[in-house]
Amino acid sequence: MELIFEQSVAGRGCSLLPDCDVPQVAPSKLRTAPPRLPEVSENDISRHYTRLAAATHGVNNGCYPLGSCTMKYNPKLNDELAALPGFTGVHPLQPEHTAQGCLEVLYKAQQVFCEITGMDAMTFQPAAGAHGEFTGLLLIKAYHESRGDTARKKILVPDSAHGTNPASATMAGFEVVNLPSGPDGLVDLEKLRAAAGPDTAGLMLTNPNTVGLFDPQILEITQIVHDAGGLCYYDGANLNAVMGVARPGDMGFDVVHLNLHKTFSTPHGGGGPGSGPAGCKAFLAPFLPGQTVEEGPEGYRWHQPEQSIGRVRAFHGNFLVVVKALAYVLSLGPEGILAASRGAVLNANYLRKKLSGVYKMAFDRTCMHEFVMTLEPEKADVHVTAMDVAKALLDYGIHPPTMYFPLIVHEALMVEPTETESKESLDELLHAFLEIHQRALADPEDIRSCPHTTQVLRLDEVTAARHPVVHYQWPQA
Ligand SMILES: *Cc1c(COP(=O)(O)O)cnc(C)c1O
Repeated sequence: MELIFEQSVAGRGCSLLPDCDVPQVAPSKLRTAPPRLPEVSENDISRHYTRLAAATHGVNNGCYPLGSCTMKYNPKLNDELAALPGFTGVHPLQPEHTAQGCLEVLYKAQQVFCEITGMDAMTFQPAAGAHGEFTGLLLIKAYHESRGDTARKKILVPDSAHGTNPASATMAGFEVVNLPSGPDGLVDLEKLRAAAGPDTAGLMLTNPNTVGLFDPQILEITQIVHDAGGLCYYDGANLNAVMGVARPGDMGFDVVHLNLHKTFSTPHGGGGPGSGPAGCKAFLAPFLPGQTVEEGPEGYRWHQPEQSIGRVRAFHGNFLVVVKALAYVLSLGPEGILAASRGAVLNANYLRKKLSGVYKMAFDRTCMHEFVMTLEPEKADVHVTAMDVAKALLDYGIHPPTMYFPLIVHEALMVEPTETESKESLDELLHAFLEIHQRALADPEDIRSCPHTTQVLRLDEVTAARHPVVHYQWPQA
């Protein structure tokens, strides 16, 4: 496919710029050479981007069972609401009384997401999940420091954790202690007891964890950490199995982040914008970053937390993502939120059950919103790997599951169908998985060379990761 720059023909163009409505800058500040932009007609542009869109897989094209990413269908209604001019045209420095509607959105969002997580206060400053983790860890740090408890330098992180957990803890200045999971994929209580002590700042945990299992010992886990004087951080990036069912705050957690760009109506991936709000219990609220919203006698107003850790982002975060999330929660209502979680768990278990006679499950028990299979047997028998199965799915018009994650399962494929897939579309996915398995046994070389029908076939993954070319390379003059 030709790049837009390669389609450029000197002198062709279609600029329809509005009249300038701001003061002109001094001529000395103007650029001397025109920018090197592609010169194309409107028709060229339209065809180019339509071709690109057709070559891109999204939830609007087909199933996207990318585990730990919750690529579900997001109702267009929420985008329409976020596009209202009252939301898009507001300036973050506008006086409070001129932006009451927007402050109300943030206030309601604070309430709704505190209710869903069992927290008391929330900030919408963080722009992504990892950013929310970093923020939450700074709250934990500020809390210990405010009490003069400066020996707490360690954060306990299970080996099944998302890679961002140890990374965020390191960024926040902590030392990471790796907790090995038991053979059942859950936290090993004895190892946790041995690791928790006077140097423990806290624990970071995902529940359900990254192998899709809910840890039934959760109350004991958080108690052990609290008894040692540490705090408990809940990685709530994937709330799709528990929203409306169980709350991190009731499980003993003190801090949580959410990925609005997974569970709450903004797609995950594609470069954003996202939102990773961080919530906390009341005793941590004075440390929150930026400003939160309060309701006063004269309406909504900004509140500056007294011992704030400072800002983690400009202004109030990615506000329009919060508008979409609030619209999503309010339009579903409590019953709808519960039904979404239940549907996500049902769909995952339907697939898991139907596949489990053919593919090997990493942990063969009831899962939450996702499950993990291992291609180790196929790799040993016919040299077909998780990567090969993922590539073969592309020929069926299906986005591959997450591969080679979590790290505790070898040859992992992590499948998250989400609640927005119908039984018919789950059956199509099943058909693809089962047929690929048959083909792999009958003619492994055929599967190893997949995909056969996509625009580009097998890519050089190493070069793509190590030396990506992400902008147009101008021919040397
Ligand atoms: C996606 C995810 C994150 C990180 O979220 P980003 O927005 O990508 O930074 C953290 N933890 C878990 C369990 C996740 O699935």
